Amino acid sequence: MADAERSETYGHMAVARRVAALRATVAGWKRAGESVGVVPTMGALHAGHMALVEAARRDCDRVITTIFVNPKQFNRPDDLQSYPREEASDADKLVAAGVDLLFAPPLQEVYPEGFQTKVSVSGLTNCLCGLMRPGHMDGVATVVAKLFLMTAAERAYFGEKDYQQLLVVRRMARDLDIPVDIVPVPTVRDADGLALSSRNALLSAEQRARAPAIHRTLTAMADKLAAGGAVGEVLAWGRSALEAAGFDKLDYLELRDNEQLEALESLDRPARLFVAAWMGPVRLIDNVAVVAGR
Ligand code: AMP
Repeated sequence: MADAERSETYGHMAVARRVAALRATVAGWKRAGESVGVVPTMGALHAGHMALVEAARRDCDRVITTIFVNPKQFNRPDDLQSYPREEASDADKLVAAGVDLLFAPPLQEVYPEGFQTKVSVSGLTNCLCGLMRPGHMDGVATVVAKLFLMTAAERAYFGEKDYQQLLVVRRMARDLDIPVDIVPVPTVRDADGLALSSRNALLSAEQRARAPAIHRTLTAMADKLAAGGAVGEVLAWGRSALEAAGFDKLDYLELRDNEQLEALESLDRPARLFVAAWMGPVRLIDNVAVVAGR
């Protein structure tokens, strides 16, 4: 076996830094007829990520988790710089959860000298985070396409917390004929409703105490819409509720359909409320389903 094909081990888990090592391990599994699931992450793992791992563990013979802080999906240098990196404790969590292989490549393994390709999904990316964070969704689509081709997994697990990302990744895999099923996993929240996120660690105690208002406001808005409230009025109410709760700036607060992300003026299709709001230096996102006639 060539050096590049060798994985390290950590407990019973293989750790691959090189694509060749990842591929050699996966090839062995596939020869044995085993199914493979992948959970792509940027690390600093929390219970939200672990829900994806657990779903993969239930469905697949073998589970790969990837940790790669992808510079191409960061549109602000300070965000990339402050993004938490905790590989040692992440590896412990993955071993405890029964993950078979951690793929944690260095930057040059993913983007070697001379890299020039971009995967870009249009339509779905012309709104929400796609609009507010230029280049972000292309960065996501590019790295996820590469991870799908590197791992050859037949299932990939994504959180509904990043709902637009989930739709973009699904569209990309279909459009490029990558044979992978995208499996959505519901958002995992703290007891006070705040969606778990690696960036929550960057909130001060006082900001963290105010942050759950984002989810409280979305659920109250969903209730108002379900009870027949007019979309424009409910959105205006939500905007002032978030402002009153101490959010500094709102990137968006919108009602959009579940599939194409078209903005809705009435609740005529399955829909979700989407928000991105700033609490101090941290940009929080969340979304909830709106069920008509609830
Ligand atoms: P990230 O490490 O932030 O890129 O996230 C990796 C994956 O975990 C993505 O599919 C996210 O949607 C998912 N994820 C992050 N936070 C949560 C959460 N609170 N609940 C469910 N999935 C999540």
